[in-house]
Amino acid sequence: MKTSVKGLSLSILGLCLGSSEAASTPPTKPNILFIMSDDHTAQAIGAYDGRFAALNPTPALDRLAREGMRLDRVFCNNSICTPSRASILTGQYSQANGVLDLTGSLATDHQYLPQLMHEAGYNTALIGKMHLGHVEPNFDYYMVLPGQGEYFDPKFFKKGVGAFEKQPIQIKGYVTDIITDAALDWLKNRDRSKPFFFCLHNKAPHDDFDYAPRYENYLADVTFPEPDSLTNAGNHGSIATRGDQDELVRYIGASIGRRNVFRNQLPLAGLKNNTDMDDEKILHESYQRYIRKYLRCVKGVDDNVQRVVDYLKQEGILDNTLIIYTSDQGMWLGEHDYIDKRWMYEESMRMPMIVRFPGVVPAGTRSSALINNTDFAPTILDFAGVKPPAYMHGRSIRPILETGKTPDDWRKATYYRYWMHLAHHWNPAHFGIRTDRYKLIFFYGLKNDGTGIQTPPGWEFYDLEKDPTEMNNLYDDPACKPVIADLKQQLLELRNQYDETDRKYPAIQAVIDRHWNTTDESRAEAVQISHQAKAAFE
Ligand code: CA
Repeated sequence: MKTSVKGLSLSILGLCLGSSEAASTPPTKPNILFIMSDDHTAQAIGAYDGRFAALNPTPALDRLAREGMRLDRVFCNNSICTPSRASILTGQYSQANGVLDLTGSLATDHQYLPQLMHEAGYNTALIGKMHLGHVEPNFDYYMVLPGQGEYFDPKFFKKGVGAFEKQPIQIKGYVTDIITDAALDWLKNRDRSKPFFFCLHNKAPHDDFDYAPRYENYLADVTFPEPDSLTNAGNHGSIATRGDQDELVRYIGASIGRRNVFRNQLPLAGLKNNTDMDDEKILHESYQRYIRKYLRCVKGVDDNVQRVVDYLKQEGILDNTLIIYTSDQGMWLGEHDYIDKRWMYEESMRMPMIVRFPGVVPAGTRSSALINNTDFAPTILDFAGVKPPAYMHGRSIRPILETGKTPDDWRKATYYRYWMHLAHHWNPAHFGIRTDRYKLIFFYGLKNDGTGIQTPPGWEFYDLEKDPTEMNNLYDDPACKPVIADLKQQLLELRNQYDETDRKYPAIQAVIDRHWNTTDESRAEAVQISHQAKAAFE
């Protein structure tokens, strides 16, 4: 009883705020369909005009973009599944929500977004991948994969079927098809007395990029264009990512070809034991196989998105439904000879985001406002007529969606932190700041407790206007000194503002203190750490 009264007052408050801010008159409580795929990067969506656009990899998503808005500067604050999903559900940065890495979990009553949407009178459901630890999803209905889940004949935990995580059901078939079948089932049989907030979370195209057998011949004869940076390192990176005199390039950052001796794409490309091809040849072959498999997996996502859109149209609710398409973060498709994500560089930090809501979001529009994944929950709540709570760090992007314009007082910078160190794909821990034009990254190269192999501390600075592909680290360019000093100040302010300092991590704070200002002494120490790391890796 108490809950419903609280929900009512929240929604009345929200309605008043919502209507005074709205540029047009959208439905008071529209249906909201939030489709999130896993590791679906903007380079692999036709609407983003990347190097695969000519192959028409995502006609359904491109149509959504043509009928709505394409957002170009949406960034996660930590480019890895679990923490990004935690920020989406809480509207908070990682230290506030407690999910720093893949081991994190978000207690059921801390899943604020679905909880508040339920209280606002929404029928809430999550089908697909959640990946937030061993906690029950706080949705009226759920059917979720355990952890990453399987591509074929996957198991699910389903609301109402035994205790959570005790009695999984197994469904025969391919995961994206099964998730979509279940989504259509839920939509058809839902309680129509309430609007819905429906999270459709694909597992695809996460690695190992398995695709449904029907795509076996899709793009079979295509030679995929390569990014220049696959074979040309340019002045990308620093002592932190390459070591002194490049002595760590064989150990840091999982690669397409043989470069990284610990982890590379060759096993997934079926090339692990190949001895016929030299390093250069195998790099190109591995890349071709990687992209082919990835885009086949993406095709399964796109075709299934179309099935959902077709259903909404058939029921007559397509235009009354706010549709958001995104991914929990970006993905490397061979740029800089990287695979996976995690890095603060563009292709990995950037989330695709397409929003369709006719009459509210103008068709065919684009926005380059700096948005991050703490904004998702406030935005969804805003459209539901709920004032975003003060404990959320993000801000509703509804005014941007409605007008295409960025408010004058919008954020000028977004903060990023990759908390893990040398885990799985051999990325050093780092944090940094991205503004409209610049990016400054500090690699501290240490686990939270200071144990294990340290990698060299170092800074990278990119001018994204002149160098959008991050091929030229200008940190040591004297002309950039004033800009870098200003960014460091902003970085400190953001860390304080979002409670993202390292006061709980003294080993990391000590590295920050010694290397915040680069001196001859700090450079010498980084070189020494590089040599030690090389010895430890070998
Ligand atoms: Ca992911």
